[in-house]
Amino acid sequence: MNNLWNDINLRVFTSNLLGQSDELVLHGGGNTSVKSKVDGEEILFVKGSGWDLVSIKAEGFAPVKMETLLDMARLKELSDTDMVSGQKAAMIDKSAPNPSVEAILHALIPFKVVDHTHADAVVTISNSKNGIELIKKIYPDFLIVPYVMPGFILAKTIYEMTQDFDWSKCQGIILHNHGIFTFDDDAKKSYDKMIEAVSKAEDFLSENVKLDINPRPSKTYVNLDKLKVLIEHHKGHEISLHVNKSTLALFYASKENLKEFATRGVLTPEHIIRTKRVPMIIEGDMEGALFEFMGEYKKYFEEFSKDEICLNPAPNYAVIKDFGIVSFGKNEKEASIINDIVEHTMLAVLRADKLGGYQGISLKDCFEMEYWELEQAKLKKIT
Ligand SMILES: [Zn+2]
Repeated sequence: MNNLWNDINLRVFTSNLLGQSDELVLHGGGNTSVKSKVDGEEILFVKGSGWDLVSIKAEGFAPVKMETLLDMARLKELSDTDMVSGQKAAMIDKSAPNPSVEAILHALIPFKVVDHTHADAVVTISNSKNGIELIKKIYPDFLIVPYVMPGFILAKTIYEMTQDFDWSKCQGIILHNHGIFTFDDDAKKSYDKMIEAVSKAEDFLSENVKLDINPRPSKTYVNLDKLKVLIEHHKGHEISLHVNKSTLALFYASKENLKEFATRGVLTPEHIIRTKRVPMIIEGDMEGALFEFMGEYKKYFEEFSKDEICLNPAPNYAVIKDFGIVSFGKNEKEASIINDIVEHTMLAVLRADKLGGYQGISLKDCFEMEYWELEQAKLKKIT
């Protein structure tokens, strides 16, 4: 008889530990799993959507039949909508949350415990111009996967890369421009491997990047009430502003060629849903800056869209020259989540610039993430 209580509780414990560090995951980012047997059947307990690693409990894990997940990995094509409904049908407890979109990938990794984070240090190096070469040097025992869209395409890519693969020699996986996986049959060891691997990237950064965050004091006045009204008008609902005038934010906002500097994309693809690909840049006329942002957003939509519905083109945050960062959320909580993501992005951009230049995923990859059919399905239900 397998002791399921023990598997899940250890899994909850190390998931919470990973979630406690905002340098590993932010607000719903990352996912974890454990494989266990229930009534003789192999089951993957994987983080359910809507749960944060820091506070996840046993009921936050979705129990999905391994056999179904592994069958899915062998398919040539699978829409994300079909993947989600197929996974839901393969859950042994229908009241559990929807499994993470990375469930198939977790199933493919032949170890009991799997951890996935978007560690700042790893994505900072990965999002630099020579990122992939640097990552290969730092992680010689890891499987390095070039950027592909999360979900089925990512699982399929790893399935194909690991045919005739010696997993016993593999210490983890780096998803370029996205994050890192570690795994083991033991929950503590998988957690240890994560910390050890991320520490390698942190050591590399502290050896190779010297940042001097030292802005001039700001005397810039910004009419925040006017900004709020303007953004609310274009979003069509009330918003909360989160104003960030920290040393880091002011330094970031005081950079030369601010528009080119501060619009180089997201740190990890999931962030796009919160922050959009880029901020609005205000260097004077607020209204002009907003129209410029929305015009460029519509152009980006038209360039890549097929039959998608355009999201509201107003920005989710602004970088204001010699002032700082202002985030726009539906409420205070959302505005502060956006601010947290931007805070981590700013530091990563500044550091990656010292490694030869920050470079996030392409516009096309951003579009695919932002207009992921799972997100669009929700919109289509509303409209
Ligand atoms: Zn991820």
